[in-house]
Amino acid sequence: VDRNPGETEFHQAVREVLESIGPAIDENPDYANQKIIERICEPERQVIFRVPWEDDNGEVQINRGFRVEFNSALGPYKGGLRFHPSVYQGTVKFLGFEQIFKNALTGLPIGGGKGGADFDPKGRSDSEVMRFCQSFMTELHRHIGEYVDVPAGDIGVGSREIGYLFGQYKRITNRYESGVLTGKHLSFGGARVRTEATGYGCVFFVQEMLTAKGRSFDGTQVVVSGSGNVAIYAMEKVHQLGGTVVACSDSSGYVYDEQGIDVQLVKQLKEVERTRISDYVETRPSAKFVPQRSVWEVPCHVALPSATQNELTSVDAANLIANGCIAVGEGANMPTTPDAVRMFHEAGVAFGPGKAANAAGVATSALEMQQNASRDSWSFDFTERRLQEIMKDIHARCHATAEQYGMPGNYVAGANISGFTNVADAMLRLGLI
Ligand code: NDP
Repeated sequence: VDRNPGETEFHQAVREVLESIGPAIDENPDYANQKIIERICEPERQVIFRVPWEDDNGEVQINRGFRVEFNSALGPYKGGLRFHPSVYQGTVKFLGFEQIFKNALTGLPIGGGKGGADFDPKGRSDSEVMRFCQSFMTELHRHIGEYVDVPAGDIGVGSREIGYLFGQYKRITNRYESGVLTGKHLSFGGARVRTEATGYGCVFFVQEMLTAKGRSFDGTQVVVSGSGNVAIYAMEKVHQLGGTVVACSDSSGYVYDEQGIDVQLVKQLKEVERTRISDYVETRPSAKFVPQRSVWEVPCHVALPSATQNELTSVDAANLIANGCIAVGEGANMPTTPDAVRMFHEAGVAFGPGKAANAAGVATSALEMQQNASRDSWSFDFTERRLQEIMKDIHARCHATAEQYGMPGNYVAGANISGFTNVADAMLRLGLI
């Protein structure tokens, strides 16, 4: 804490991992002798930079850009870029730290990193977003590359932003290096299923947790927070598997639709019109919009927090448990506070932590890198099947590791120990670097 003052989310993420890997540390004295924990908590490299750009009124704006290259023991740094006014060093470091273990869990050759800027794309015109992305990449391009560091999207960075970023990278470097960014449009090397991946994958993971409990999605009521990329495709997959999503949200409140959320309508509002979730009720008057309240007050069997960090608190957990919730799958990164996680464990609610449950996005990004390297393009069905297998494997690995270390059903411990030992063993073999 003294070494990284003020980086509260980073402290929280590190504490969560360290609290559960004790049994693995005890088992292998080399982890302590070689100071693996101290090394793993220190990023290999961090860059902070100025992003100057001009808005539509001709006024100069200055933002702060970040890239944290955390760990490259398993492969090139890999992790998204977040554009949100709240972004600071502590956000990027918590996300980068989580990313190390998440990427290790996928079993694919990718290291961990993360980046972003305190830029708020909300209310900005298309050309303002383009100018911002071009300025951001003008600095970032020096630090990334297909074999070095491969950024992708996150909150506030979708296909549009990745397009502008890739365009500027290509222009500055004069290289058509498709594998330098993932989440690209299909027309320039993007992978099918990347847009859907994180939401679909989270639902596949929860499906495995439900199966382990002798249950399924069929007939379940589901609540999802957020209405962005992860939330939309989580809702779509829940409906395909026979469940009903009755509520979703954005930062202004939530909509409740007894008949089931109309996912096409949410896509139109959020992906095309880029408007607020409150507009949902204008087309579906039978639904209701509840401003400034937590979506977790809505009763459900399955909760999929898919918005942002620390959005599901102990008060929300108490509501969910009292209302009969049996499973929680984190679509977002660290959306559940530590107290709430503890309450779910004590109440026997199956809890899938983000680094396992939302790993499908980065896994599909790694599949995009494979396709770019082989100049290939896979079909939707083939890619989705591979993705589902990866999520099944991640579930099986977390489940088995938790059992092996005497904590059956504890997916947090399973994910942390399994991800940590993969990276730590590679670091030992690579020597003191
Ligand atoms: P988007 O920007 O597409 O969507 C974020 C959504 O969350 C928006 O609906 C936003 O609403 C809402 N939101 C933000 N803050 C709050 C809040 N305090 N309360 C309620 N809703 C809120 O981002 P993504 O869907 O891509 O990412 C969501 C989460 O998933 C993040 O934690 C991200 O790190 C994680 N993730 C994403 C992956 C991906 O592939 N996209 C991969 C792995 C993890 P508003 O518009 O009002 O801000």
